[in-house]
Amino acid sequence: MTKKCAVITGITGQDGAYLAQLLLGKGYRVIGVVRRSSHYGVATHRLDWLGISDQVEMIDGDLLDLSGLCRIIRDAKPDEVYNLAAQSFVKTSWDQPVLTSQSTGVGVVNMLEAVRLEAPEARFYQASSSEMYGLIQEPMQSETTPFYPRSPYAVAKLMGHWMTVNYRESFGMHASSGILFNHESPLRGLEFVTRKVTDAAARIKLGLADELRMGNTDAKRDWGHAKDYVRAMWMMLQQDVADDYVVATGRTTSVKDLIDIAFSHAGLSPEQYVKLDPAFLRPAEVDVLLGDASKAKKAFGWEAEIGLEEMVREMVDADLARHRQRQA
Ligand code: GDP
Repeated sequence: MTKKCAVITGITGQDGAYLAQLLLGKGYRVIGVVRRSSHYGVATHRLDWLGISDQVEMIDGDLLDLSGLCRIIRDAKPDEVYNLAAQSFVKTSWDQPVLTSQSTGVGVVNMLEAVRLEAPEARFYQASSSEMYGLIQEPMQSETTPFYPRSPYAVAKLMGHWMTVNYRESFGMHASSGILFNHESPLRGLEFVTRKVTDAAARIKLGLADELRMGNTDAKRDWGHAKDYVRAMWMMLQQDVADDYVVATGRTTSVKDLIDIAFSHAGLSPEQYVKLDPAFLRPAEVDVLLGDASKAKKAFGWEAEIGLEEMVREMVDADLARHRQRQA
């Protein structure tokens, strides 16, 4: 049997790295699409951390360049395409609303077009987001909960989501949208709240920092582990019929409680170090998210396996190890 081939956009991000690891483990040929920049080299540090950078084939491509995407899909003839690339940081989307609309919204249309034109039989995964629920319309959000986006990022993600649904319904493509609630890991970017907190706990513990400046610590999120969530992406594409699925843990926790978990693991008391800084508040906030993933559980048996405490401890330990290594 020939190897299955997967194309992943956003390969240099957290989910791209874990998904590549999962697919390589299943014997896939993995092609990662990377946006060229004038900086030196390609940001492979996450793939390096997982020890898989030499097993992933990297190809230059940009979600805004349809002809380039068509060429990539034509040459690769993939069985599966995972569209994970985006401008993915909510707060930045108010500063760069047009760029965010282009990469996070129009970029999805370009990917769908490239697949429709060059490999219409390929299965397509779109990385949708719980941020689309924004000002929540139901206490627990499922696939049938109405959306109410609260940031340019969320509006752009909604475009990508509905385009994916539309290409499935218009052209019969096997296109699925995974509505993933927040998911984290030691590979999460430092701009996101979980990693900002675990990194600060590690730096304070090692005497490299003496405070942590935070925005709205009352916000609540349904946080899962990226490793569990990329498994859900793959499972979606193994179903006979494409569909949309919420991926979540079903538990919501405040930023404040997240800080407590991380700091207590590092043996620190948050009151001593955490300060409110209005610079980290947002023009519009998503106060609480809580996902109902029962559809995914019923359809293909997916459930989150890694709990919040275990994940936060792993992240603090990884940040402690990173900073100790730098000090050595
Ligand atoms: P998001 O849900 O995709 O926006 O993920 P983030 O990790 O960026 O933010 C999660 C929540 O933490 C949001 O409600 C933020 O307003 C809140 N938060 C509070 N303080 C901070 C902070 O200093 N940085 C970030 N990134 N988020 C913060």
